[in-house]
Amino acid sequence: MLQIHDKTFEVFLTNEEIQNEIRSLADRINKDYAGKEVVFVAVLNGAFMFTADLMKHVVLPAEIAFVKVSSYQGMNSTGRVDEVIGITQPLKNKHVLILEDIVDTGITMEKLFTLLSVEHPASIQIAALLYKPEAFRGKHEPKYVGFSIPNKFVVGYGLDYNELGRNTADIYQLKGSSH
Ligand code: 5GP
Ligand code: MG
Repeated sequence: MLQIHDKTFEVFLTNEEIQNEIRSLADRINKDYAGKEVVFVAVLNGAFMFTADLMKHVVLPAEIAFVKVSSYQGMNSTGRVDEVIGITQPLKNKHVLILEDIVDTGITMEKLFTLLSVEHPASIQIAALLYKPEAFRGKHEPKYVGFSIPNKFVVGYGLDYNELGRNTADIYQLKGSSH
């Protein structure tokens, strides 16, 4: 059980489940991108743990960029992205793989796609640890998904509730929400 601000959360995905899934995502990525020039674009803050754990199993000669975007306040999407910073290397003709903690409405990813496309990378794909298909209304579905989950608020393992709760090994969901 985990108390953050006014809310109580319970374990939804254990770190062991997360690590097993990350290992198979890395296997797929290693196969699909073999022999290609890849730039991993990790979306801060939420994807920092996912990125660190995934990259330990990626054996490609990969670059990693950390970008910052924000479209969220509290428990509801504001539906807008405030800023994108952090790409310093050229992306032209490279294969971009975006690493995201969770794809919800897909708005953040649409914005990133648009911003990265102008640099003419060879390809852009998304790897999301978590994906909420019921909430999704974007154009670019994540190609690599760790867990498809119900449209419920989750925290932990990088994900926050009003900036707290990122520093846990497991992923939690609001207590009382049914799966
Ligand atoms: P989207 O633009 O796809 O609606 O939202 C993406 C961002 O919203 C994610 O990167 C994440 O920061 C935040 N987000 C979406 N759903 C959740 C959730 O269930 N819990 C937390 N903590 N953040 C979420
Ligand atoms: Mg995020």
